[in-house]
Amino acid sequence: MKKIYNFSAGPACLPQQAINSSIESIKNFKQSGMSLLEMSHRSVQVVDLFEETTNNIIELLNIPKNYSVLWLQGGASLQFSMVPMNLLPIAGSADYIDTGSWSAKAIIECEKFGKVNVIGSSKDSNYSYIPKDVQISSNSSYLHITSNNTIYGTQYKNFPEINNNTFLVADMSSDILSKTIDISKFGLIYAGAQKNIGPAGVTLVIIRSDLFELKYRDIPTMMSYNTHASKDSMFNTPPVFSVCVVNETLKWLKQLGGLDSMANINELKAGLLYEEINRNTLFKSPINKEDRSLMNVPFIFDDNGIDDKVFLDFCLARGLTTLKGHRSVGGFRASIYNAMPQKGVEVLIETMQEFEKRYS
Ligand SMILES: *Cc1c(COP(=O)(O)O)cnc(C)c1O
Repeated sequence: MKKIYNFSAGPACLPQQAINSSIESIKNFKQSGMSLLEMSHRSVQVVDLFEETTNNIIELLNIPKNYSVLWLQGGASLQFSMVPMNLLPIAGSADYIDTGSWSAKAIIECEKFGKVNVIGSSKDSNYSYIPKDVQISSNSSYLHITSNNTIYGTQYKNFPEINNNTFLVADMSSDILSKTIDISKFGLIYAGAQKNIGPAGVTLVIIRSDLFELKYRDIPTMMSYNTHASKDSMFNTPPVFSVCVVNETLKWLKQLGGLDSMANINELKAGLLYEEINRNTLFKSPINKEDRSLMNVPFIFDDNGIDDKVFLDFCLARGLTTLKGHRSVGGFRASIYNAMPQKGVEVLIETMQEFEKRYS
């Protein structure tokens, strides 16, 4: 198979080691003589798998004891609704910061259950920065942020400070596990797996245990965090194979030395790429320097009259795929999640340099 570097924003590249061991699980899971794909979620092996996966993520993220880890379905998008359904009082209000399309979608869902105060937005500049110095509303139950904006390529480097009567909720779909974070700052964190954790089909939720007690409205059983927490994410049939791939990814992260090591590698990879975008006369970054994401790196042509497709084809011929920018930004976007090897970033940089020699 020809080596391809996949810069897709999601579903995205996974560690080869995690893919290889997942293939083994499909053939013969833990010497059971059965494929994981055909095993009951009530079997000892699968119950063990969930326990191991949860323990691995607790260890990697240093999750405090008063938090629960849930493995759910419905993607990050279902969390846009589950968060206000479970955590917003009747006639209550919540603060949201609008840093892109995903935040905007979360806001629309919350508005179905109560009042939203948009206390910061960078929409006026096509989401090229993270709004800072936001003022928390006195009556808000929580503040919702998107820690990394997959489409626009901005990322929080410091989380907003909040007072004691409220808590932070974060959509961390595209940067969870990329660095160490202080979980205790958050009431709830959610992340669709297919960016930086594993394949599509499973969504990670980390929730502070006291928030289960909130029962503001009558909601469907499946929408309640309490339902899933009280049954260790096995109230109904969970996405067992997706969780297996997640676990293999977590094992890979642990072997690498955990999240501090991963963060150093991510800083290095992104640093090299931003340096080249800055140096190369054909390209520029549309994003405010201090808010640039280490995970999703958008870049555009610097008014050189070349069609985007020329560069995309140039990349494809060198095994670099899915570099087209999101339609709302245009240009290019290199998603360089944990699993993108440094070599992939280096090949991209060489390709940009070769392209400059040919076309400038
Ligand atoms: C991809 C993405 C989503 C949507 O995830 P789904 O799992 O497809 O629902 C939400 N938020 C962010 C930040 C994302 O990157």
